[in-house]
Amino acid sequence: MVVLDEPIKGVLDVRNYIDGEWVESGSEEYREAVNPATMRPLARVPMGCTEDVEAAVDAAQEAFPAWRRTTPLTRARYFFRLKDLLEQHFEEVSRVCTMEHGKTIDESRGEVRRGIENVEVATGIPSLMMGYNLEDISTGIDEAAIKQPLGVFACIAPFNFPFMVPLWFMPIAVATGNTYIIKPSPWTPLSMVKLMELVDEAGFPPGVINMVHGDVEPVQAILEHPGVKGVSFVGSSKIGRDVIYREAASHGKRVQAQCSAKNFLVIMPDADVESTVPGLLSSFFGNAGQRCLAGANLVMVGDDEKFIDGFLGKVQRATQGIRIGYGLEEGVQMGPLQAVPRKQRVMDYIEKGVDEGASLMLDGRKYDCGGYPRDCFLGPSIFQGVQPNMTIAKEEIFGPVMSVLHAGDLGDAIGMVNASNYGNAASIFTGSGKAARRFQYEVECGNVGVNIGTVAPMAFFPFSGMKDSFYGDLHGQGRDAVDFFTERKVVIQRWP
Ligand code: NAD
Repeated sequence: MVVLDEPIKGVLDVRNYIDGEWVESGSEEYREAVNPATMRPLARVPMGCTEDVEAAVDAAQEAFPAWRRTTPLTRARYFFRLKDLLEQHFEEVSRVCTMEHGKTIDESRGEVRRGIENVEVATGIPSLMMGYNLEDISTGIDEAAIKQPLGVFACIAPFNFPFMVPLWFMPIAVATGNTYIIKPSPWTPLSMVKLMELVDEAGFPPGVINMVHGDVEPVQAILEHPGVKGVSFVGSSKIGRDVIYREAASHGKRVQAQCSAKNFLVIMPDADVESTVPGLLSSFFGNAGQRCLAGANLVMVGDDEKFIDGFLGKVQRATQGIRIGYGLEEGVQMGPLQAVPRKQRVMDYIEKGVDEGASLMLDGRKYDCGGYPRDCFLGPSIFQGVQPNMTIAKEEIFGPVMSVLHAGDLGDAIGMVNASNYGNAASIFTGSGKAARRFQYEVECGNVGVNIGTVAPMAFFPFSGMKDSFYGDLHGQGRDAVDFFTERKVVIQRWP
């Protein structure tokens, strides 16, 4: 067996990071974080409690007045230091991410790079935060709109991008002068432990950036605490809508909740096959399908059977060639699901698809996983003959499963996309600018791809989402994020 460079040795004792100190949680409940490829325990993780959140909010509130008065340029310089440290620890952080999540090392490197890009964008805050003004709105009277921080914000993160997701929010929130609390997923908290070690080394003043571990209780405490001004959530639609959006709003907080997805990739008969297939595979099976931007439904448009059979044959052969194993092994193309219940959930959907009459052309349950314990491993599956009303076509599976559907023409395909409750991402593959424009114009979802399989917005654009994929109005990242984390104040002046 190859000896791999695993940065986590033994079992870590995870602590909260509050007011610049590593502190024990007040909770007596702990959960084990496990490497899903080897099933070896990685850490003991506290499940957090209301007192932990109260301590973090106290620290963040206390740090706020001085941090707010720190000039934007000086605040940006802290992020330059953090960016340098992240570059120095890039490989280590990526390896931690693979160990706790299971994704391949290249996927982790991509995730960490995307996280760093958010830090880079935040270093531009002196320009990003500028307001605007107009002299002489009436004779001798001037008006200006300025942007000010509000106080303490918090992020509640999902398991599937343990490093990147909190960085969609924290850098802009803190660079605009707010103070912050990160609540990582209890399943994958260790990438954030690494980040907070680097935050500490970068020298951010105590209380400016804090971290509390755990699950339901600390989230409730964040939602109810009057000192928390706003919440950024990323996770499932059920929790995002029924818990986060409702409760945050009922406690008068700002909220942005980025939620579940069911993404359609539409293949027109004039798509370029050679460049389309690799992008498809990465979209459906990258991160073992555990991405909110993952392809879920593949819609073949038209009745050109030769094109459709040739295309699907290529997809199937390429999928069969995907190498599965421990993501730290270079060359492995797909890791395990992140945890045993996540694999079980996908297996249940596969059974449901078979029961509802779809044909399983490739059965991921029969895959070889390179000699690792099978607990979390599952190969890619492809269903054909899927109808739009089948469960596997409607619900988020969040695993490596492709459902192939057929549409008579582009209008039918757009109709299928728009009939979904979700509206996170959809892509069209075509050689026609006319078809692409119609798709972009009519499709009801927030992130639209043209000849792109995974529509991941860069840090300087908003990460959009519609319908049950997003609750709120201002999205994460980009200018939306600057507005979410600031209050617009209008000043009108006359000096007689
Ligand atoms: P989840 O909803 O189970 O958990 C998300 C967060 O909510 C975690 O921090 C968890 O501790 C907390 N939480 C869970 N149950 C709670 C409850 N009852 N009360 C209060 N807090 C609770 O989601 P997950 O399984 O970690 O993540 C996967 C989901 O996230 C998928 O649906 C995926 O599509 C979605 N996601 C969306 C985006 C996006 O940008 N739209 C990005 C990544 C993931």
